[in-house]
Amino acid sequence: MIVDLDAPVTAPEAQSYTPLKRHGVCRHTITWWRTAGHVEQIGQRGRSPLYRWGDLLRAERDTRLSGQSRRSTRCRSCERAAERERDLVSA
Ligand SMILES: [Zn+2]
Repeated sequence: MIVDLDAPVTAPEAQSYTPLKRHGVCRHTITWWRTAGHVEQIGQRGRSPLYRWGDLLRAERDTRLSGQSRRSTRCRSCERAAERERDLVSA
């Protein structure tokens, strides 16, 4: 759990933290937020864009309240990733 609102985080990191996880946010949601202009990339770590933790929390709140969250209980991109992983394990 991050308390420093200025902490830089990647989308995969952020999606595992309770405040976002509880609201069904995954890394794909965060990528969509960036595309839609709800959050700005503040840097880069390896190949992953970095975001300000406080910005992600604000985007979560804003999109949830506006009804444009595009969140559902099942994210198709996450499901496909899980399917690929299962295929790799069973192969
Ligand atoms: Zn997803």
